[in-house]
Amino acid sequence: MALGQLYRLRSPSSGEETLVEAQLDRIYLDEQSGERLEVVGKLIPLAPTPSRLPWAVENLRFCDWCDQPAQKDLNDCPWCARRMSPIGA
Ligand SMILES: [Zn+2]
Repeated sequence: MALGQLYRLRSPSSGEETLVEAQLDRIYLDEQSGERLEVVGKLIPLAPTPSRLPWAVENLRFCDWCDQPAQKDLNDCPWCARRMSPIGA
């Protein structure tokens, strides 16, 4: 499964931000104003990743093996690749 990188795009006049699975060689326009959206950030985790959860404290757990933070929707640790125990076990 090919997953695109999520970017934060901002509308220059309203300052509104949206998350878009964007390709950087394309131009994205604000639906209301028609302005070109500015790329303001790239969301971690960086693509490609099997996780769709944003890298935020409430979405993270600590690997049983290497004690590194990993997203809760993953079964295998992205750092040491070992299988983590079920959540709540
Ligand atoms: Zn680990």
